[in-house]
Amino acid sequence: RVEDLLARDFGTLPDLIRRHAANQPDKLAIADGDAQITYAELDRAMDRAAAALQRDGTAQGQAVAIVSYPSVAQSIVFLAAVRAGSIAAPIQPSATPEQIAGMVEDSGANLVFLDRANADALAGQTMSARIVMLEELDQWLAPEESTPTPVEIAPLDGFNIIYSSGTTGIPKGIVQSHTMRWQHLSRNSTAGFDTAVTLLATPLYSNTTLVSFLPTLAWGGTVVLMKKFDARCYLELAQQYRATHTMLVPVQYQRIMALPDFDSFDLSAFRFKTCTSAPFKAELKRDILNRWPGKLVEYYGMTEGGASFILVADENPDKLHTVGKLSPGHEALLLDEDGNEVAPGEMGEIVGRSPAMMNGYHKREGATRDAEYHDAEGRRWIRHGDVGRIDEDGFLILMDRKKDMIISGGFNIYPSDLEAVLAQHPAVADCTVVGVPSEEWGETPVGFYVPRPGAAASAEEVRAAVNEKLGKTQRLSKLYVTDELPRSAIGKVLKRELRDRLAQGEF
Ligand code: ATP
Ligand code: MG
Repeated sequence: RVEDLLARDFGTLPDLIRRHAANQPDKLAIADGDAQITYAELDRAMDRAAAALQRDGTAQGQAVAIVSYPSVAQSIVFLAAVRAGSIAAPIQPSATPEQIAGMVEDSGANLVFLDRANADALAGQTMSARIVMLEELDQWLAPEESTPTPVEIAPLDGFNIIYSSGTTGIPKGIVQSHTMRWQHLSRNSTAGFDTAVTLLATPLYSNTTLVSFLPTLAWGGTVVLMKKFDARCYLELAQQYRATHTMLVPVQYQRIMALPDFDSFDLSAFRFKTCTSAPFKAELKRDILNRWPGKLVEYYGMTEGGASFILVADENPDKLHTVGKLSPGHEALLLDEDGNEVAPGEMGEIVGRSPAMMNGYHKREGATRDAEYHDAEGRRWIRHGDVGRIDEDGFLILMDRKKDMIISGGFNIYPSDLEAVLAQHPAVADCTVVGVPSEEWGETPVGFYVPRPGAAASAEEVRAAVNEKLGKTQRLSKLYVTDELPRSAIGKVLKRELRDRLAQGEF
């Protein structure tokens, strides 16, 4: 039970790294393609960096901002911030320079760590935090034998701030506490992370990555970080390191499985593959189950941590269209428009609660209030902003984000239903559906697709064929061809951006 696991004294993550440094000093902790670091070296570097943070006036509870591609140096600063009792704040380098500077400012950090590539991009921005270059980390670290002044850490103290993906609006800072992190770590107690070689190809500012990165280090395994994802490089690295664990987002799985010589790579060491963050198609899951060894687990949840659902795909081959069942210790409700619980099997907005919920958004009381739901007994829940239904076996079938749902002539249209039909057309390689304002219907669905190379059908022909298979109220008013769908750095389709571009007359 989660409560039992939480009650166990794990120590803090930096304490566990210290323990591994004593027990397995020469074991590789993190590799990034350029640099490698053993547990003994990591523990030493964390001490020196934590001492340097204290020397430079970073207070306990204050953020330490890091804008970087995944690297050993970034990892050292992240983990040292936690050891010093301050809060790691890894920030998305994929945001615009103004947004990045805004997040650094918002975090309240007095130091910002940049790698060269991001320092160049941020050159025109003013930030009150002092810049430290990750490439020059050695010069910044406190002298060899330094140790930080020990700090007392309470369970609800901040561990890190993660800015949400910004899929539906501006990114919000979510403070994850030590308790919340322990919950993520303990969930993985049976995943064999102690002997893992975890290959990661997503950025460290995302919870998606951290839910694999942190457990690997907590249990004493090895993390291999890719600075930038490339499907072929991924497979070469997996083979070279004999990777056992991984976390990839759906679009990465898709690109890897599409490589013509996928089957020629030796992936026999894999034991545990996970996926989260965006819709993961049943056919793709099935293809992975058939051709890629090891367990396949999908997580559904949000950085704010309401409820989480888990699908162990290999044990539930007939439930691949779902995101699985509630994690132990988590609760979920589905609410209708009026805030009442829906009847079993009906569609509703997901609200959830668990021992791992955020305290609130950083400096955003209004947004925090909007995200919360209080039931008749006064218990606090978090609104997920996603719509779904729970089947008779307790598996969650996810439909869409509430903000993406289309209301046309009084009917609710779920873009995912239309996307599923569109995706089956032989001329369609990738696609999405969004709602746009309509005089007649209030809103109406329009589609975008990337054509398959060599496809002969015109957009109008595809639209006609697809509309024939859709219900009368669901039919696409327009279908646009595009070279590529806009996606966030962790592979989420940016529907907001498509709607804006359409409104501005593009397409
Ligand atoms: P923002 O809140 O800024 O709009 P975001 O919601 O994308 O960004 P995250 O916390 O990274 O930020 O993502 C959580 C969301 O990702 C969920 O609410 C859900 O919409 C989507 N998601 C997570 N896991 C899955 C999954 N397995 N299948 C489909 N969608 C998922
Ligand atoms: Mg969200």
